Amino acid sequence: MSNLRFEAIKEAFKKKAVEVSAPSPIISDYFGKYVFSKEQMVQYLSKETLKMLTNVVERGATLDRELANHIAAGMKRWAIETGATHYTHWFQPLTEGTAQKHDSFIEYSGRPGSHVIEEFSGKLLAQQEPDASSFPSGGIRNTFEARGYTAWDPSSPAFIIDDTLCIPTVFISYTGEALDYKTPLLKSLNAIDKAATEVCQYFDSSVKKVFSYLGWEQEYFLVDEGLYATRPDLVLTGRTLMGHESAKNQQLEDHYFGSIPTRVQAYMKDLEFEGYKYGIPLKTRHNEVAPNQFELAPIFGETNLAVDQNLLIMSIMKKVARHHGFRLLLHEKPFAGINGSGKHNNWSLGTDTGIGLLMPGKTPEENLQFITFIVNILLAVYKHNALLKASIMTAQNAHRLGANEAPPAIISAFLGSQVSAVLGKLESSNSEDAIILDPKQGMKLGIAKIPEVLLDNTDRNRTSPFAFTGNRFEFRAVGSSANCSSAMIVLNSIVASQLAEFKKTVDARITAGSTKHKAIFDVLKKYIKEAKPICFDGNGYSNAWKIEAKKRGLDDETSVPLIYDAYTKPESIALFENVGVFSERELHARNEVKWETYTKKIQIEARVLGDLVLNHIIPVATKYQSSLLDNVHKIYQIYEKEKAAELSAHNTSIIEEISERIAIIKLKTLELVNTRKKANAIEDERGKAIEYHDKIIPFFDEIRYHVDKLELLVDDELWTLPKYRELLFIR
Ligand code: ADP
Ligand code: MG
Repeated sequence: MSNLRFEAIKEAFKKKAVEVSAPSPIISDYFGKYVFSKEQMVQYLSKETLKMLTNVVERGATLDRELANHIAAGMKRWAIETGATHYTHWFQPLTEGTAQKHDSFIEYSGRPGSHVIEEFSGKLLAQQEPDASSFPSGGIRNTFEARGYTAWDPSSPAFIIDDTLCIPTVFISYTGEALDYKTPLLKSLNAIDKAATEVCQYFDSSVKKVFSYLGWEQEYFLVDEGLYATRPDLVLTGRTLMGHESAKNQQLEDHYFGSIPTRVQAYMKDLEFEGYKYGIPLKTRHNEVAPNQFELAPIFGETNLAVDQNLLIMSIMKKVARHHGFRLLLHEKPFAGINGSGKHNNWSLGTDTGIGLLMPGKTPEENLQFITFIVNILLAVYKHNALLKASIMTAQNAHRLGANEAPPAIISAFLGSQVSAVLGKLESSNSEDAIILDPKQGMKLGIAKIPEVLLDNTDRNRTSPFAFTGNRFEFRAVGSSANCSSAMIVLNSIVASQLAEFKKTVDARITAGSTKHKAIFDVLKKYIKEAKPICFDGNGYSNAWKIEAKKRGLDDETSVPLIYDAYTKPESIALFENVGVFSERELHARNEVKWETYTKKIQIEARVLGDLVLNHIIPVATKYQSSLLDNVHKIYQIYEKEKAAELSAHNTSIIEEISERIAIIKLKTLELVNTRKKANAIEDERGKAIEYHDKIIPFFDEIRYHVDKLELLVDDELWTLPKYRELLFIR
């Protein structure tokens, strides 16, 4: 059989950029074409219905059956006119992707056999009962009792994919527990709204609502489809389990922001056209640091919608990649030795009056508000740094974090020199000096003047997992394949809880006779001192920071299964119950799912590794070794013993090295299988995951080391798996 690898390389080299053309030269002509947005609603819903729906979305009014019927009728009309024949509830189970089950609109008009009509009632829009038994639930809903239901989230608009109307929904068990990401996300958005609005009222009584905003930056790799198909590890696990480093990779730093390869450029354009049709405001595209690594980012938006759009774009990215002869890799670390992929979550808060709460303002009052939010966020991140880390940790992301290019597996916050100076000044001043009453302005801040614009690109710290970037925090530890919600739920919850505590403390001081401003100042001063250990502007990649962080008492756990314990510590349970985001039962159940997922991911990788080693690597190495043996044998036939020994010395040493390496690989693979069997017998999910982390994972590097050495030894002609240089540089 010919070597598939070479065929794939040959084919890949022939590929040309696919021609793509814009649906219209003007983006706004087709922007949101497939979304049942406000503009569509105006056309398809009556004024009264639209007003009532707005009440539901913006003021939390209840959605009754009659209203649902009206909306469903309008939505159906729009969907059918736009080409839909089916509908589905679109939800976000704990498996990271999205789930859907399509139903056609057709129903019999009367008894079975009568003619069919297109039917879509408010009932079908509002609630469904998918047979949800096979989604992970951590034992909340065992397979025997397969009942969970999906319920419409009217705050995220419906959209059409292909011929199907997709209705964003939450996914809940019959006993009321969340089985998805959206339910707790919506609860956390409520919590932050409530807590932040109350704090805003100290500064501006006209604020009635606070929004959480998210702007994600999505990193990804593209690999030629033919090469991908000949790498079973990529196909089955999303990452390469072996492969010697390419002589050239990212040393020259010539890929980042470099000119975009033509096939990729076509892909990006196509992707943007598709994204725009779904109302996703894609803004930025560029090469990333690693070869064949790229990034796209939209304009930020309200968190709930931004999350849905991110999930949608991830699935569109996969689809479009195939049009262009690529496969998309969203794994956090597809290749060893070069950068992995993250999904930076740019997060901020803003009021319904249009004020960005993480932006210095024009008035002293606004600046005090800005500082109030910054300080409370810092303290929240400090108190719950372990939890924040747990929110982004997965089997895949563990390869990336701390791997020298990504944020370390320790959460700290970067503020930049300007904001740090302001906080320092505030901490050291006494409140009488800080608040100078000015007869005209009411209040003047004696602290250093804060420049209105803090966006300073030179003052950026790429090594910080949680960095203030002028008008937002950028949470960089989030993994590229993750559902952003996981991080956003925790971030919004901890900040909501902290703001509520702040409010309580300040109110108590006011009641005790302090002025409002003095109370705020005094509490902030105390908080700044308390939150100090989380602030770190230095090099997060350095070893010195690891030692320093430990001294400061920051969480430095690196074992993924143990990191998840942060969710069920008493203080976390109290926190989530107080803000109304998770019950204790949900927290335990979700951790069960996390441990189980962790184990399964590594289990699959271990199986694939075993298969590759036994069925690809060892046979190929043996074949090459035989050809060397053959050669040595022939040399001995022609030459005298002494001369033959001299001439074949090089080959003999390779023959021996191959034997030695194969022996170790075989031994380790066997041990891996046996260790796995033992681990699989553990019933408790947490215990099993710990065993997989402690005992199974070390085998991967040990085995890979020898496989990669063989790759260097064996004749390139015989090697069947595409090499790193091919996967990373052919496009
Ligand atoms: P960089 O790579 O320099 O960090 P990008 O332009 O790639 O920046 O992405 C920045 C992301 O942050 C974008 O999605 C942008 O819309 C978003 N963003 C900007 N301002 C805010 C804000 N106030 N709140 C949330 N996200 C924001
Ligand atoms: Mg960024």
